[in-house]
Amino acid sequence: MEPKERMLNAVDDAEMAFWAKIAEAFPEITTGDLPPDVVIPLRIQNENAVCCWLGGNSDFFPSFRDNYDKEHFCEECGEKMVPAGVKLCVDCCRESNNREMGVD
Ligand SMILES: [Zn+2]
Repeated sequence: MEPKERMLNAVDDAEMAFWAKIAEAFPEITTGDLPPDVVIPLRIQNENAVCCWLGGNSDFFPSFRDNYDKEHFCEECGEKMVPAGVKLCVDCCRESNNREMGVD
């Protein structure tokens, strides 16, 4: 399996484990609704954090590590971002996703 696929699978598993622990703390809550504008930024930040960790501690993402100290900017609004494998900032990603889903 490719490092990127392993990273994405690990983030999937970790998010499932995270929400399982949250649900465990609130057994009286039986639904799992969460708006996309909360889910998507969380996902991006989690992937960023794992990519940072992999970039700094392995050879899996050398280009990421090489670019770690460089500045990164959103391709849409130009806002400065944390080093990441994503092209859009959280706000632009949310707007883009809302457009795709037909949400104003
Ligand atoms: Zn942006």
